[in-house]
Amino acid sequence: MSKRDYYQVLDVPRTASEADIKKAYRRLAMKFHPDRNPDDHEATEKFKEVKEAYEVLSDAQKRAAYDQFGHAGVEGMRGPGGGGPGFDPRDAFGDIFGDVFGDIFGVGRRGRSQVYRGADLRYELELPLEQAVFGDTVHIDFATLAECAECSGSGSAKGAKPATCDTCRGAGQVRMQQGFFTVQQTCPRCNGRGQVITDPCGSCRGQGRVRKQKKLSVKVPAGVDTGDRIRLSGEGEAGRNGGPPGDLYVEVRVLDHPIFERDGAHLSCEVPVSFATATLGGSIEVPTLGGNATIKVPPETQSGRVFRLREKGIKPVRGGATGDLFCRVVVETPVNLNREQKDLLRKFEESLQKDAKRHHPREESWLDGVKRFFSSLGE
Ligand SMILES: [Zn+2]
Ligand SMILES: [Zn+2]
Repeated sequence: MSKRDYYQVLDVPRTASEADIKKAYRRLAMKFHPDRNPDDHEATEKFKEVKEAYEVLSDAQKRAAYDQFGHAGVEGMRGPGGGGPGFDPRDAFGDIFGDVFGDIFGVGRRGRSQVYRGADLRYELELPLEQAVFGDTVHIDFATLAECAECSGSGSAKGAKPATCDTCRGAGQVRMQQGFFTVQQTCPRCNGRGQVITDPCGSCRGQGRVRKQKKLSVKVPAGVDTGDRIRLSGEGEAGRNGGPPGDLYVEVRVLDHPIFERDGAHLSCEVPVSFATATLGGSIEVPTLGGNATIKVPPETQSGRVFRLREKGIKPVRGGATGDLFCRVVVETPVNLNREQKDLLRKFEESLQKDAKRHHPREESWLDGVKRFFSSLGE
């Protein structure tokens, strides 16, 4: 099923402010909430859709990615729509719901300060074909947010303790009357932490996290292809308020190869042969990823003929049969001939003309066809 546009789902313009998006989400989520629509499958689906749209559009980073690349831009990032290898179904009704509704639907988290899981990161890894086929350990280097070593992520200067937030009295949530409902919201002063930092750590300016260049070695399994993702659990951005770190997704992109073209498990290549070898037959050496192999070219081989070398392709990373190598023979027209060679060729051509039908059957039948075509025009 193709996904609907997130802005359409929330019924807001693309220029909607954060507050508008939150408002639209609250209205729709209340309307479709499973507690209010028991046994209504359609409402549940709508609810999930609304929640997913909100999860992306309420996060500035995800929203920017979505605006630029659409659904593809946020796939693989954490969320119910991603469905990638790191998808955790427990997240489907998690923080965001509690964040907006507090305990009105029984998703209460009163008195608990909120922890946030760190963001997932995506790293595009370009690999030469050989490395993708045989696997390798590669070293990568990327920017991330790591826990501040100075304050161990607390955000407070050494020896200082954060103070209890006096807006929410440490609960992390505030109650607000909204017409009919009392809505509980994340405390705007402490962002749900329940505490405020009075003496911030100098190294992270109270954020608890710092930008850091991280180096990792990644084991690339043999047989990976473009689009395959390797998940490194816990190697994403550090969490906040003691939350767990996100994951790192290493996405493979296999580079073009000067000789081989890849199609899943199969490889193909073009092999030039001389006019004489194609005519008389002979053995030619062809490259494979596992070393050279020989193809026996029978006499009278025409240009474009494909020879299949079984199991000289790729063993797929998810198992299954090893692919084949398809070698397409292309007869190469000789170039840079000297006068003597040209004379020889003219003499040779003359000798063929004596019995052209026998030596060039395709050309002759083609010429016959052309003649018939022009005479049919004249009728
Ligand atoms: Zn710090
Ligand atoms: Zn507070």
